Amino acid sequence: MAKNQRVAVVTGGNRGIGFEVCRQLALKGYKVVLTSRDPSKGLDAVQRLKDAGLSVVFHPLDVTEASGVTAIGRFLEKEFGGLDVLINNAAIFLQEEDRDILSVSMTTLEQTLATNTLGALCVSQMAIPLMQKNHYGRLVNVSSDMGQLSRLNRSSPAYRLSKTGLNVVTRMLADTTRGTDILVNCCHPGWVKTDMGGPGATRSLEQGADTILWLATLPSGGPNGASFMDRVEMEW
Ligand code: NAP
Repeated sequence: MAKNQRVAVVTGGNRGIGFEVCRQLALKGYKVVLTSRDPSKGLDAVQRLKDAGLSVVFHPLDVTEASGVTAIGRFLEKEFGGLDVLINNAAIFLQEEDRDILSVSMTTLEQTLATNTLGALCVSQMAIPLMQKNHYGRLVNVSSDMGQLSRLNRSSPAYRLSKTGLNVVTRMLADTTRGTDILVNCCHPGWVKTDMGGPGATRSLEQGADTILWLATLPSGGPNGASFMDRVEMEW
């Protein structure tokens, strides 16, 4: 590893916005650890980046499995002596089952919260102590405007609750890093053409990744505990 090369972990890096963030961080010279819950999909994604001349490493990570989170923490410590950037990108949106607050099942709620909110928290609990070791960190939670309290309605309750919860997690984690060079923020990528966003989405992967990359590379003294869209602070 080149001296002073920053190390970045991206969850759900095998496709969609996560893959694009991996690509762009690698282009910027970061040592990217592309993670995926399915090793074969993750290794395919790494190969696509290698074919494009980019150097990234793969590590399996299902954000709902605490033992796997512990394992990647040990890997990061042994291999790189810490971690500089974490992008909590992995998420599910079970659109068929996640229709209305009066009918959504507890199973759908539990699955969605386990991935989108608690998974991100679990990975952050591993990452922040590694960042504290080197007195530097940038943690980006990829949230959604569907989790904004000011815009809530009865639809997609599991997804909305999970992203509102992720915003709360962002604020609470940011409180633990206040006054240090570890900056914890969240953002809304907009409506992006991915499997989740669907073909009707209005934004490219590059547009969706822009604010995430900006937050991942903030200079010292940047914002901590805030939410952004298009690099502009959003209300909660
Ligand atoms: P996507 O194309 O559906 O990709 C989701 C990624 O998350 C996949 O790599 C998926 O892995 C991974 N994932 C799901 N559960 C996981 C788990 N338990 N452990 C590890 N990885 C897991 O979604 P996207 O559109 O790129 O979304 C990326 C982020 O942006 C999400 O947080 C999403 O909520 C947010 N967002 C997206 C939009 C949009 O319009 N696309 C809008 C607002 C917010 P598999 O391939 O194994 O399923």
